[in-house]
Amino acid sequence: MTSTTLHAGLADIPTGLLIGGRWRAANDGNVFEVENPATGELLASVADAGPGDADAALDAAVAAQRSWARTAPRVRSEILRRAYDLVMSRQDWLAEVMTSEMGKPLAEARGEVAYAAEFLRWFSEEAVRISGDHTTTGDGANRIIVTREPVGPCVLITPWNFPLAMGTRKIAPAVAAGCTMVLKPAPQTPLTSLALAAILQECGLPEGVLNVVTTTDAATVVQRWMSSGKARKISFTGSTGVGKVLLRQAADTVMRSSMELGGNAPFIVCADADIDTAVQGAMAAKMRNMGEACTAANRMYVHRSLASEFSERLAARMAELTVGNGLADGTDVGPLIDAAGRAKVQHLVDDALARGATAVTGGRLPDGPGYFYPPTVLADVSPESELMSTEVFGPVAPVIPFDDEDDVISRANDTDWGLVGYVFTQDIDRAFDLSERLEVGMVGVNTGVVSNPAAPFGGVKQSGLGREGGKVGIDEFLEYKYLSVPRRRR
Ligand code: NAP
Repeated sequence: MTSTTLHAGLADIPTGLLIGGRWRAANDGNVFEVENPATGELLASVADAGPGDADAALDAAVAAQRSWARTAPRVRSEILRRAYDLVMSRQDWLAEVMTSEMGKPLAEARGEVAYAAEFLRWFSEEAVRISGDHTTTGDGANRIIVTREPVGPCVLITPWNFPLAMGTRKIAPAVAAGCTMVLKPAPQTPLTSLALAAILQECGLPEGVLNVVTTTDAATVVQRWMSSGKARKISFTGSTGVGKVLLRQAADTVMRSSMELGGNAPFIVCADADIDTAVQGAMAAKMRNMGEACTAANRMYVHRSLASEFSERLAARMAELTVGNGLADGTDVGPLIDAAGRAKVQHLVDDALARGATAVTGGRLPDGPGYFYPPTVLADVSPESELMSTEVFGPVAPVIPFDDEDDVISRANDTDWGLVGYVFTQDIDRAFDLSERLEVGMVGVNTGVVSNPAAPFGGVKQSGLGREGGKVGIDEFLEYKYLSVPRRRR
C-alpha cells in the first residue's frame, strides 16, 4: 500500500503495515495523518492498526522465530552490515524524512542517521561473537555447558524524539541475537520507522522477522501482545509512566523486560571548572534535539562563584541560535513535537517565573504557525519550581547556584530518576568522587554527550532496566541455557 497523499520526497516510503513480509492496509482500512510540526502541513496518511492487525503481526513473528533462530550468525550479521551501508548511503534522504515529521534541524537529523546506523554496524559485529561457557562442577562429576539462545519474539516500542536511533538500538541487537519482532513506532514519527523497515527488507531480512504496526491505539494493540503469552520480551523506550504500565502487564506473562525511561539529569559545574568547557557542554546537553532528549540536562547546578557568568554566557550562546523550520538552511533549533509538548514547556517556565526565577533569555511563546519555543535560560530558579522535578523536554535551562558539594550531590540525587548526570571540574579526584556519588547509569565528565553505540546506555532507579548498546546490549535479547553432562568415571 502506498498512499497518494505523500508529500514529494517521501513518496518512496510504504505507508501500510509490514506483516509477514507483506505491506498491507489495516484490516478496517483506517489511516491516520502525519504532520510536519514546523508548518502543520500534512505529510502522509499511514495505516492505523487495530487488534486484528496486532494479532496477525505477532503471529507472523512467532511463525518466523524458529527458522530465524537457526539462521547462521554470519547471515544475520551480513544483513545488518548491508543495512548500515544502505542507511548511510541514504543519509540525506532519511534525515529529510525525520526532519519533516519530527522537526529537528537537518544537521542534527544527519547526525542521528549516522548514530542510528552505527547500531546496525556494531551489532553486525556482535552477531558472530555470541559465546557460552564450559566448566566442571566442584565435585568433578558433571560438565556445565552454557549456551546462549534468542529470547524469542519481542515487542519493541519506540518514542518520537529519536525515531531512527531508538529503532536501530533495539532492532539491531534483536536481529543479531536471532529474535523476531513486532515494532510499534510513535504515531508522530512513523515514516522514519517504515523507511528503515523497507531498507532492512531490501537487505534480505526474511519475512516475519520484523513486523511493523503503526497505530493511534497503542494501549489496545500493545496490550494484545503483552497478554498473548506468545511474545517473550518487551523492550520499551519512552516515559516512566508508560514503562510502569508495561511492566505491570509483563508481570502477567513473566516477560523479559528492558526499559529505557525518562530522566531528570543534574548538570553540576564545580568552582574549579573550565567555564568555556562547561558552557559548551551545557549547549550540547541542553540543546541537542531542542531539549527533547532523555539525556537533556534538566537542572543546572552551578557553583555560586560562577553562576552569574555561566548564566550570562549560556544565555548569550542560546540567544544566537536561529529558531525555524528544520528543513531550512541555517536553522539551529526546530519546533517542539506538538501542541501538548509545547504547552507543557510553557507551563513549566511560567511556574518557575511565578516562583521568582528570571528569564535571562527566552521564556515567551512566539507568534505564528509551528510549535516553536525559544531557547530559554532561567536564573535564580526556586527548588520548589515544578521543572526541578519534571522532565522539561524543551530548550529551557534552569540555573541553580550551590555552595557545597555534599549539598549539591544530595539535591542531584533527590529524584526518582537516575539516567545520566554531568560533572564539570578540572580536578580528576573530584570528577571521580562526584561521578561515583551520583545515582545514575551514565556520567558525562567535562562533556555534554554520553550516547555512543559502543557504550552501555541506560539508567537506574525509575529511569529503567537493562542497557542498550555496548558489549552488553545483545544480552537483553539472549537467554542462557545450561546443559549438565555427567563425566564418565573410569
Ligand atoms: P511515551 O508517551 O511514553 O510514548 C512512548 C511510546 O509508547 C509511544 O510509541 C507511545 O505511543 C507508546 N505508548 C503510550 N502509551 C502506551 C500504552 N499504554 N501501551 C503501550 N504503548 C504505549 O513517551 P514519548 O512522549 O513518546 O517520549 C518521551 C519519553 O521517552 C521521555 O520521558 C523520554 O525521557 C523518554 N526517552 C527515554 C530514552 C532512554 O533511552 N532512556 C530515550 C528516548 C526517550 P502513543 O504515542 O500512541 O501513545
